[in-house]
Amino acid sequence: MRLAVLKERRPAETRVAATPETAKKFIGLGCTVAVEAGAGLASGIPDAEYAAAGAEIARDAAAALKGAGIVLKIRAPLAAGEGAVDELSLIPRGALLLGQLQADEAQANAYAKAGIEAGAMELLPRITRAQSMDILSSQANLAGYRAVVEAAAAYDRAFPMLMTAAGTISAANVFVMGAGVAGLQAIATGRRLGGRVSATDVRPAAKEEIKSLGAAFVGYESEESKQAQTAGGYAKQLSAEFYAEQAKVVAAHIAKQDIVVTTALVQGRKAPTLVTAEMVRSMKPGSVIVDIAADAGGNVALTKPGELVTTENGVKILGYHNWPGRIAGASSSLFARNLLTFLTTFWDKEAKAPKLPAEDEIVKGVLLTRGGSVVHPSFAPAKA
Ligand code: NAD
Repeated sequence: MRLAVLKERRPAETRVAATPETAKKFIGLGCTVAVEAGAGLASGIPDAEYAAAGAEIARDAAAALKGAGIVLKIRAPLAAGEGAVDELSLIPRGALLLGQLQADEAQANAYAKAGIEAGAMELLPRITRAQSMDILSSQANLAGYRAVVEAAAAYDRAFPMLMTAAGTISAANVFVMGAGVAGLQAIATGRRLGGRVSATDVRPAAKEEIKSLGAAFVGYESEESKQAQTAGGYAKQLSAEFYAEQAKVVAAHIAKQDIVVTTALVQGRKAPTLVTAEMVRSMKPGSVIVDIAADAGGNVALTKPGELVTTENGVKILGYHNWPGRIAGASSSLFARNLLTFLTTFWDKEAKAPKLPAEDEIVKGVLLTRGGSVVHPSFAPAKA
């Protein structure tokens, strides 16, 4: 079974879907691994390291994909007209493609038409058995860490209280909005750096998690917020009245913050606006806001996706794209391990190939297409 690893070509994408470590493990499973030349460079992995692990270095995408039965990607392959290389057309029929595909119906249909078995790893069910394959968690964790480190670098004062012979510098007030995977890591990182950390979320379970990390909970709670979590553990979309009450509590708190990190997402929707322009104007000059949700529309009204904005009152808003990609060495390593775990879980040792049982909960969650048809319940036409 030939496994191909492509160079990522989409803007701001610095990660790679396999590392020398995972390439070696795939070779141990009986695969031939082909890595497109330069695929790991933006993650700090030279071709020579893949070669030393036993991988073949292919000169381009076409050479890597020739005869491949498994294709590993971070983001969806480019289709015709999307870039210099039509990667999709180069993937052999029958190959299994894994990555964070974020496919819409048209893309799912395109995979089906191309005869590709496409697995969208971001759709993995959030169950205990799947935790070690969960790309959303591994990447959000690193994004949360990186956001705080970048906030500290952009802040022209210190995070910890510093008592020096020349006097004392007070600790930074750090407020984390959204305490899911990214937010909890942001809280832990803010605390490790010595900040005075508080956090908010709408899910009732998050309050205890915030407190268990030593941060103060700040938030609005109501009968509605008691039901704010879906069965899958995600936040629900709440009423306009709830958001208005939440904004009142948050507005008073934000005015006193030096650092705000926003991570709030509601599945399948634009990220909620939690920090209004007025709230930003209430902050002190030199304060820093990091909007990890920028790529999902942003939690801050003044965020410009992909940019650093300095407001008239001197507040910096970091709304960069792809926060995991800003710590590409670590995020590639975890993403690659997530894919390795997925494939080893469903590995047929005799056939030396993956075998994805259609009835398995994880496979059902991830698989978009099979045998030339769209099979995912989100897209497949209802059976008569
Ligand atoms: P996410 O990325 O979808 O959202 C980030 C956070 O934003 C969430 O905590 C959400 O509640 C919060 N949020 C949404 N609207 C908000 C608002 N108006 N104000 C403040 N906060 C708001 O979430 P996630 O990090 O993917 O985690 C979602 C859930 O999944 C959590 O309960 C987490 O513990 C759970 N989880 C389970 C597993 C597993 O069991 N395998 C793995 C990962 C995460």
